[in-house]
Amino acid sequence: MEIARTVDELRLHADAWRALKRMIAIVPTMGALHRGHLSLIEEARRHADEVIVSIFINPTQFAPGEDLNTYPRDPEGDLEKLRTAGVDLAWMPPVEEMYPDGFATTVQVGGPAKAGLEDAFRPTHFDGVATVVAKLFLQSGANVAVFGEKDYQQLLVVRRMARDLDIPVKVTGAPIMRESDGLAMSSRNAYLSEEERRKAPALWRALNAAAKAILSGAAPTEATRAARTDLEADGFEVDYLEARNAETLAPVADPSTEPVRILGAARLGRTRLIDNIPLRKED
Ligand code: AMP
Repeated sequence: MEIARTVDELRLHADAWRALKRMIAIVPTMGALHRGHLSLIEEARRHADEVIVSIFINPTQFAPGEDLNTYPRDPEGDLEKLRTAGVDLAWMPPVEEMYPDGFATTVQVGGPAKAGLEDAFRPTHFDGVATVVAKLFLQSGANVAVFGEKDYQQLLVVRRMARDLDIPVKVTGAPIMRESDGLAMSSRNAYLSEEERRKAPALWRALNAAAKAILSGAAPTEATRAARTDLEADGFEVDYLEARNAETLAPVADPSTEPVRILGAARLGRTRLIDNIPLRKED
């Protein structure tokens, strides 16, 4: 496995692969890798000859007061996992390589980024994500990029951004990997105390309860309000729990005729958990 720490090193490899007509996939991550990340790498391998995994904790997507400084870091463990997974190149730039002195350009995203949900609680987040992801796409020239449905709104934002800026990359989504009790895997789960860890799958159960109620004929707003109330009774501080159109993130008009995603974010102690499920398997 190659390791690149400068854009020049990355381009040396990517350009050589392109000259050989090799298909390149990129899997952007912030490290502290778990099985969810590894599933994205497997998906990337299905689409490409060469797989790049970036590990970069992107400061511009964290607001002041968020967990940038405490975000879990395990570069050596990550490299070992990437080697075992058969990754071709680990792209691990230092912050100064991504944001050199004088950096002054931001990708400003609308559409799905401005549909509420995450944006209502993290208003600068998606511009930071879009800026770094645009850089990763342009640096690598990847043909394919794999993102997890775990960050469902992010997946739609990145897809829209690549289309709008004519970046020739196919943005592919991959399903959420869960622990055996339903908790969506996340690097941030490391923050949970033992007791919080026991409670944490209640978010996933609340999403499922809302789905079940909607499928039984309840209005989406009523079903999600009830699920939210249950979660609050369990000690969660709920940022949102909503049913949205799975393609546009618009409010659901008629759940029987449109694809629906139920999305939630809630805080348990100092940990912010996010999760989502499709209303039906095919949504
Ligand atoms: P992160 O390192 O948390 O920024 O995540 C990097 C990528 O992995 C994003 O595309 C996430 O959506 C994806 N991801 C994170 N957790 C999971 C999971 N449990 N299942 C599938 N994909 C995930």
